[in-house]
Amino acid sequence: MAQKGVLVISVEPGSLAEGLGLQAGDTLLEINGEKVLDQLNYQFLMSQRDETTLRLERPDKSAYEVSAENGGDGIGLDLAQDEVKVCKQNCVFCFVHQMPKGYRKSLYLKDEDIRLSFLYGHFSTLSSSDAAELARIVRERLSPIHVSVHCTDPEVRVKVVGNPKEGDILRKIDQLLEGGIDVHTQAVIAPGLNDDWIWDKTLRELWERRAYQTSGPWQGKGGVLSLSCVPVGLTVHREGLPEVQEINAGYAKAWVERWTKEARRYAEANGGEPWLLLADEWFTRGDVEVPGRAFYSQSWAQLENGVGLVRKFLEHSRRFISSEKARRFQGRKALLLTGSSFAPILNRVLAQLNREVGSQLRAVAVRNNDFGESVTVAGLLTGRDLMYAAHADRDAKGPVEAVVVPSASLRTHTGPTDQYTLHGVTVARAEGTFLDDMTLDELTADLRTPVVPSGANLSQLLDHLEAADRANRASGFSGRDLEKVFHRSGLNLPQGAYNP
Ligand code: SF4
Repeated sequence: MAQKGVLVISVEPGSLAEGLGLQAGDTLLEINGEKVLDQLNYQFLMSQRDETTLRLERPDKSAYEVSAENGGDGIGLDLAQDEVKVCKQNCVFCFVHQMPKGYRKSLYLKDEDIRLSFLYGHFSTLSSSDAAELARIVRERLSPIHVSVHCTDPEVRVKVVGNPKEGDILRKIDQLLEGGIDVHTQAVIAPGLNDDWIWDKTLRELWERRAYQTSGPWQGKGGVLSLSCVPVGLTVHREGLPEVQEINAGYAKAWVERWTKEARRYAEANGGEPWLLLADEWFTRGDVEVPGRAFYSQSWAQLENGVGLVRKFLEHSRRFISSEKARRFQGRKALLLTGSSFAPILNRVLAQLNREVGSQLRAVAVRNNDFGESVTVAGLLTGRDLMYAAHADRDAKGPVEAVVVPSASLRTHTGPTDQYTLHGVTVARAEGTFLDDMTLDELTADLRTPVVPSGANLSQLLDHLEAADRANRASGFSGRDLEKVFHRSGLNLPQGAYNP
């Protein structure tokens, strides 16, 4: 993470920084004699003293120093985006390795950055975190951190992450816990690799380190806030990769039967707060109804990791359908495209909405041709697959007023990594773009039907449909206009893989 300072992008007008003569294009080198590593580090260093000395460099390389009475706050600097760190692992189930060739470069980025873990809940195997970085996490109180454990047995972990140096994950976790940092953890389960006794051991050893213990060696320290188990996801693009057994419906069902009971037991022993979390995909793959609200943590911990998205959607839909706002769906006729795992659940909800308010909404499961049929989540559908599905549906059932695509399929990368730079190159953010670079405009033009992102729930979907109506009335039909409307209203933010 060693960099020669951080570039000042802009200086807020009227700010302390402007008064002190700082300018865009300067490089912030040191704060109170310490090298500045990145934006997070800047915030931390600024918070340490009421009066701060900053050392900077002008573009002509001349250095200067200023002192600010900042009272522990920032002084109005907008700093350059941080260089994203990449992982040193070679996990047997790495999704990046299973990507078909030919997509844009940013999709092949194996980011693993504790800053993203802290800020956005990205999971890190901690492979790029050495002792100094772990000490930094502790010092700057970057808590909680999200850690991909996969398994605690060192020999097996070496096999799972494909890195002989990264077997002992508990050593790193313990350093964080000792320093008072809490961690959310996950294990991606691959049959025959880290299930069975390996999983039992992982569960036991992480539970021993659970947070908020009132006695024992971990009392008063950081703790493990949660452990999620996620079924391994395989695409058809595994040429030359280690063999990994797929999780079929029977395996998923058996896992649900066994571990939902255990999860409830752990929650009870954890003062009622769920600790062992099962990703939604266990239920959808095993064709089992997702459990009720109490099964998920009060704060919906690990929602972005696919834990509880279905239940959250169902809970919201139940309330929404009986609301006054839902009546505004009356008479609307739209096709909702989604992944095959979510389509049956969504269709059930839509049938109820249609009955209650007189709408004609229906969902269609889109086959994932790019990644293979075993990939059933909405977030990995490409523009091409969505386009084929919409055409096929129109041929079979006639036109609709609008086609709804999953918001999650419009994200450019898993999470906000695209706000960062890699090797000095800013990875572009293009929110109206599908994984295969098709844009919302292009799909709209091809279908000659308004295409709108789903949002995270039925209420947001209605907002999007109404925004599309307004855009059409104002300027005639244009995909570009629609896209602007969604961006302005901030409603097309990705909300996870199970969006309708
Ligand atoms: S840590 Fe993540 S990105 Fe790196 S190899 Fe493993 S799965 Fe892939």
